[in-house]
Amino acid sequence: MWRLKSLQEFLESKRNWIYTKLAANEELHRRPVEKELVDGESFVYLGRNYRLQIVDESSNSVRLVGGRLRLPAQLADIGRTPLTDWYRVSGRAWVAPKARDWSERLRVHPGTIEVTDLGRKWGSATPGGNVRLHWAAFQLSPVLIDYVVAHELAHLREPHHGPAFWQVLGRALPDFAERKNLLARVGANLWFGEIAVNHK
Ligand SMILES: [Zn+2]
Repeated sequence: MWRLKSLQEFLESKRNWIYTKLAANEELHRRPVEKELVDGESFVYLGRNYRLQIVDESSNSVRLVGGRLRLPAQLADIGRTPLTDWYRVSGRAWVAPKARDWSERLRVHPGTIEVTDLGRKWGSATPGGNVRLHWAAFQLSPVLIDYVVAHELAHLREPHHGPAFWQVLGRALPDFAERKNLLARVGANLWFGEIAVNHK
């Protein structure tokens, strides 16, 4: 037979266990950030917020004009592609001179620098010297994009994350550890292309 007190204690402990489980679950299955393709939705580029503006124009691309991210109405139905394309093209243009500077500092000679969708990775580097960066990385502030770029370029000298790699990176970017930690904290909260489905 349960004594009342021990039953209460049991339920109490059980409840704590359930809460802990739920919290852990929530962390694991945290919903990805979703965006709606409507006027006023906010998008982040190079660490700054911009509001989406659906515009009536025949243009076939997204443009950043006067602090607004202008999405032609006929593209709003397509889904994420016009926006992710805009991140790819703008990010690629923005990062080109940066990549040249970091290449000089790291004494590497990359082939192409491509901006694309890399799933859960910020960047990758091939032994052939090509570097790929995730379009989503261009939501980060420039100090963190610098970290991603320098990190991938450093791989052209050291393919693996051994002590030699961190030494190469540290010589070019002495505060890399702070940036790495910050990236781990803010990176998960960025938009990776999920569009909210409107249930009407
Ligand atoms: Zn790496």
